[in-house]
This record gives sequence, structure tokens and C-alpha cells, in this order.
Amino acid sequence: MALSKLNSLYMALVAEHSKSPHHKGVIEGAEAVLLNNPTCGDVISLTVSFDGDVIKDIAFSGDGCSISTASASMMTDAVIGKSKAEALELVALFSEMVQGKEDQKQELLGEAELLAGVSKFPQRIKCSTLAWHALEKAIERSDTE
Ligand code: ZN
Repeated sequence: MALSKLNSLYMALVAEHSKSPHHKGVIEGAEAVLLNNPTCGDVISLTVSFDGDVIKDIAFSGDGCSISTASASMMTDAVIGKSKAEALELVALFSEMVQGKEDQKQELLGEAELLAGVSKFPQRIKCSTLAWHALEKAIERSDTE
């Protein structure tokens, strides 16, 4: 895809997801993972409910810039129904992608793949990875319970 077309698609998707984020809210009874990104002021609170090894439902709340909100929204879309191991692989793929690494498997990220352009804006990388790191923490914690 031409870079200019990719850029406008990226901008449109970020705007859409940050304006009406998917899976915004709180799952009752699930313990929240709280993370913040002090360099930008983004705050996320993530709740996840597991069905055995599978992510049954996920919701986020908090306050962040458009990139952090859009990324959280895309992350929730990408990981519902995935096993913990699959979700952790997506976290790794996403974080490598926004650092500029290319991998065929990045298409597994769904719409979040379009955030690859963040790699050109190093100061926004932490905005984009916040929700994914929160998910990683929620999964790690669920394994030690
Ligand atoms: Zn931010």
C-alpha cells in the first residue's frame, strides 16, 4: 500500500477508535491493572475476565491521548477469545512493530497493525504500548493467583 494512503487510513482509524473506543468500561469482579505513562499523562485501568486459559472479556477505562485510547481499543478487539499465550505473542508483536521491526505475523494484530506508523514518532511509542503492557500484567497476575 502506498505510504500516503496508509497514513490517511491510520489517521482515520485512530480518530474513529479514540472517539468511540471499543470495550470501554469495567468488568465487575475483575481486579484492575492500573498503568500510566507519565511522559504524556496517559492513564489506563484494565480489567480482564478469563475462562480458563482464554480471554473471555476485557474492558478498559482511564484517560489518555488519542493514540493511547485508539491502541487500547484495537488491543481489546484483537485479544478477546485468544488464549493467554496467543495474547502474549500479540503483545510482543505489537511492541516490536512500534519499534520499527517488521514481521509477517503482525497481520495477526488486526487493525492494530495500522499503528506501525507510530515507530516514526518515538515519543508516542509509550502511548501506544500502554494498554498492551497492562494486558501483559493482567495475564501474569492471573497465572500467579
Ligand atoms: Zn499519550
